Amino acid sequence: MSQQRVDIIGGGLAGLLAAIELSRNGVQVAVLEAAGEFGGRARTRNVDGFLFNRGPHALYCNGALKRELDRLGIPYTGGRSLSGARQAIAVGKLHHLPTTLGSIVSTSLFGVRDKISYMRIFKSVMDGATGSGSFAEWLDDQLVSPMVRSAVEAVGRLSSYANGSAEVSARALLDQIRLTTGGTIYVDGGWASLVNGLIDTARGLGVELSDKAPVATVNCNAGRLNVVMGDGQARSPDAVIMAVGPRDATALAPEVGSLAEEAREARAVRANTLDLGLRRLPPKANDFALGIDTPFYLSVHSGSAKLTPEGGALVHIAKYLPIGEGPAKNVVEELEGVADLVMPGWRELEVTRQTLRGMVVANGLPRWDRTRAGVKVAGAPGLFLAGDWVGDEGMIGDAAAASAIKAAHSARQWITR
Ligand SMILES: Cc1cc2nc3c(=O)[nH]c(=O)nc-3n(C[C@H](O)[C@H](O)[C@H](O)COP(=O)(O)OP(=O)(O)OC[C@H]3O[C@@H](n4cnc5c(N)ncnc54)[C@H](O)[C@@H]3O)c2cc1C
Repeated sequence: MSQQRVDIIGGGLAGLLAAIELSRNGVQVAVLEAAGEFGGRARTRNVDGFLFNRGPHALYCNGALKRELDRLGIPYTGGRSLSGARQAIAVGKLHHLPTTLGSIVSTSLFGVRDKISYMRIFKSVMDGATGSGSFAEWLDDQLVSPMVRSAVEAVGRLSSYANGSAEVSARALLDQIRLTTGGTIYVDGGWASLVNGLIDTARGLGVELSDKAPVATVNCNAGRLNVVMGDGQARSPDAVIMAVGPRDATALAPEVGSLAEEAREARAVRANTLDLGLRRLPPKANDFALGIDTPFYLSVHSGSAKLTPEGGALVHIAKYLPIGEGPAKNVVEELEGVADLVMPGWRELEVTRQTLRGMVVANGLPRWDRTRAGVKVAGAPGLFLAGDWVGDEGMIGDAAAASAIKAAHSARQWITR
């Protein structure tokens, strides 16, 4: 009997992880990637020795992505995020960010009563608090002051990038906040190091890796699959995993009604980002700040990971966009204004920069009123999904990894049925 074959459309983290998992289980796999290189949103650009991820990227120590990379033996190095003095931005001023008992006591962000209620909330989160509705409803039930509510929402944005308390599931976001308290790793060389490790492993296992290979359509006819490439060539795999976003998946298989519905219902999480390559940090720079009454983030990742030429600094600034909102006109001015406040003197030290507007951080927010798409496509046997909008585990890169492994197992079950 000839070896069963699975085609994977999309060579980002999800596609590469699914390919390795299938290949390790004896399945013949091809990864078809439209772009000229693999990695999707986990790519890294090298500009004069500054290694720019697609915006700030942190590997969650307790998340599914790290778990799967480690299980598959993908090598990488990096450093934990620094635990130095962190700042909160409120009403245009800096305050100690309340993350530890000491900083809660010392912060000028709250008065005494708010400090006590903030500590109470965080104890209840760490003790396993959960909710069945939206995060906004969960916050309503906490009966806290507007400033404490804003601070808890800011921690939620930091953990997930999601700026939409009324849309996001309280259960998923509270789980995510707990997960991120386990720490994060900034990866030496940027996330391209993870992508390169996955590519090397996939190659070593004999996975067929094709870049500049856009897929035009996938036809599903009574369990028989037909993949048509952009150049018109046809392929007949035994199963297909679409490791692409919801709109791309719908465009690939427009006759599958369930995909169109998932694409309509998926709520993308977006951010504007400004990544600065500096000769060095200015003397009065803070290396971390989180907006409390505004949805901003600033962090110096080069303090923990090798991302710059000797002595240089790489600073990430981001605005978490409200769900459903695109980038405004003053993207750059807003983000530069955050840098002015948090690290005055940076302008004279700039070497290079990267600006990304309305970047899709995750294709699917975990909503409180609807579950995310499953890995099996309803009404299309043999067709599977993976990505950060799929499955019930984790958010952003962790959701991509968890769904990739589940999709690989489901595809294998299908072809060996
Ligand atoms: C600003 C920003 C910050 C982030 N921060 C973090 C973080 O701190 N931690 C974290 O865990 N995650 C983070 N993420 C999210 C993380 O990058 C993504 O979840 C992950 O990279 C998604 O991988 P994927 O393979 O599912 O999708 P993608 O990377 O989008 O890959 C999909 C691939 O499919 C290809 N494709 C599409 N259509 C076709 C077609 N027709 N034929 C062939 N190929 C096709 C695309 O070219 C692409 O390469 C961040 C993302 C952004 C943008």
